[in-house]
Amino acid sequence: MASESAIGQAFDVVVIGSGFGGAAVACRLAQAGRSVAVLEQGKEYPTGRGEITATGHGTDTIRHGHFMVDIGKGMNVIRGVGVGGGSLHYFGVRLRARPEIFEDPRWPASVTREVLDPYYDLSGGMVHAEPVQPSPVLGLPAKSQAFLAAAKACRRRTGEPLYVPIAVHTGPGEVPTPAGVPQTRCVYCGECLIGCPPSESFEGNVNARALLTLNYLAVARRTGNAVIFPQHHVGLIRRGADGFEVDVSLGDGGLFAHKGTVRAKQVVLAAGTLGTAEILLKSRDAGALTGLSPALGMSFSGNGDFLIPKTINTPQDLQPKSGPSITVGADFSTPEHKIFIEELGVIPFLEAVIGTRKETAVSLFPHQLAYLGMGTDAANGVLRMHFGRVCVYWDPAQSMPLYRQITACLREMSQQLGGDYQHELYDAATGFGLITAHPLGGCVMSDAPATGVTNPRGEVHGEPGLFVADASLIPTALATNPSYTISALAERVAFWMIHGREMRENDPDTPPNQ
Ligand SMILES: Cc1cc2nc3c(=O)[nH]c(=O)nc-3n(C[C@H](O)[C@H](O)[C@H](O)COP(=O)(O)OP(=O)(O)OC[C@H]3O[C@@H](n4cnc5c(N)ncnc54)[C@H](O)[C@@H]3O)c2cc1C
Ligand code: SF4
Repeated sequence: MASESAIGQAFDVVVIGSGFGGAAVACRLAQAGRSVAVLEQGKEYPTGRGEITATGHGTDTIRHGHFMVDIGKGMNVIRGVGVGGGSLHYFGVRLRARPEIFEDPRWPASVTREVLDPYYDLSGGMVHAEPVQPSPVLGLPAKSQAFLAAAKACRRRTGEPLYVPIAVHTGPGEVPTPAGVPQTRCVYCGECLIGCPPSESFEGNVNARALLTLNYLAVARRTGNAVIFPQHHVGLIRRGADGFEVDVSLGDGGLFAHKGTVRAKQVVLAAGTLGTAEILLKSRDAGALTGLSPALGMSFSGNGDFLIPKTINTPQDLQPKSGPSITVGADFSTPEHKIFIEELGVIPFLEAVIGTRKETAVSLFPHQLAYLGMGTDAANGVLRMHFGRVCVYWDPAQSMPLYRQITACLREMSQQLGGDYQHELYDAATGFGLITAHPLGGCVMSDAPATGVTNPRGEVHGEPGLFVADASLIPTALATNPSYTISALAERVAFWMIHGREMRENDPDTPPNQ
């Protein structure tokens, strides 16, 4: 079924986007015997290491090789572009959202943590995650140990600090992924944002992080039923004679790109929070899809992300670049908000990407520790079209109490570490300077069409056969890294598409993870 272009072809299902949602759905539908085309706007990086470039795409979106930065009104977004989506640059943290998150009335009544647990289990078997193990040379990273000791001493902390599960192989030897691809041992280089480095002893890259091309997408391809088409940018979707027609432009999607249509009986949107909203907004505005909910674009959340606060001038060299980029975290929840804080390595790379620093040399900043704060923000942002592109509109007012509480926790961490608190990008008085790595919502699931874009199984209200299976489904902040929840929700969308019912624990129809 290999082919360079999907244009002119017809499939049972077109999946748009190859990130955490798209990869899971494509894999399960292909295993169930459907012919599947995955249309991905970015390139494929066969070695698993992405590319950082400085090419700009207009002023609203800045593309840096395998990720892009969207400049929003009140909040900027970093997201992945390429086969594997956000897994190309993720730090591998795989945490389940807490049960209380699903008790928020904005979630459909039928989607609870108990219902999602079998789907989390299924996805956990495909993308293995476990706490970091000591490097044979360096031991446990100094930054991790310093974070844990400081968090333990914090008065505001409400849960035991822990080594978080990460989808990085830090144990001895090589292990095969479920698709049989060898995953080699992490070399603690701290460059997870750009991908594992080339290896002298292993052909290709180190391959320590569980990229989606090593598990879900590899299994999907192996069925022979799924084809992944890189550099296929989707414009809009319309109803056709036997399902849907998907408008595609090839290559970089510029003005003179080759354009055409792909046909499918069913379409699954998994282009990520901004990508999925953009396709649906364009389709609605062009009159191509007429039944969409007025809630399209609403309930956007930045997951309460608080980037990139730091403790600087620590007495100890914390070796911020050593080890995987995130290894530890601690619960700082309050009666009002769920809050989780993790350490964040490799900051100069991230700062270079978001434009606050030119050089990427981490050796200049050994006496510091940076953080990723997450919490239950108000999830009241809006995604709207602005000069032909989707744009985030975020008013921080209702989320300011959360940001103040995260700041107080981080100041206490800085005290415990004997350093100074610094958050260069953020203005505490106005809430200006927010960035999220975890955009959620915009096409949320709901019981009623007035309050969300899809039903609780991910099928778009008023558009049978059209599904959403990515972060845009999520109606509230998760206050933890979201990829595991996105995978679980996508597994659930796929299971309902195939079997028309809920999967239970030890279900005889549980798909194999190989
Ligand atoms: C630096 C960084 C580190 C992170 N680390 C973690 C972590 O450790 N743990 C965690 O849980 N989360 C992490 N995240 C967040 C995680 O990457 C995202 O939440 C996740 O990737 C979202 O999954 P998704 O399926 O919704 O979309 P994505 O994974 O973003 O996939 C969407 C795909 O759709 C494609 N697409 C978009 N528009 C179109 C179009 N019009 N046509 C065709 N294709 C299109 C995109 O190119 C992309 O490949 C991190 C994020 C960042 C920025
Ligand atoms: S720290 Fe480990 S997982 Fe991260 S890029 Fe380096 S080798 Fe890969």
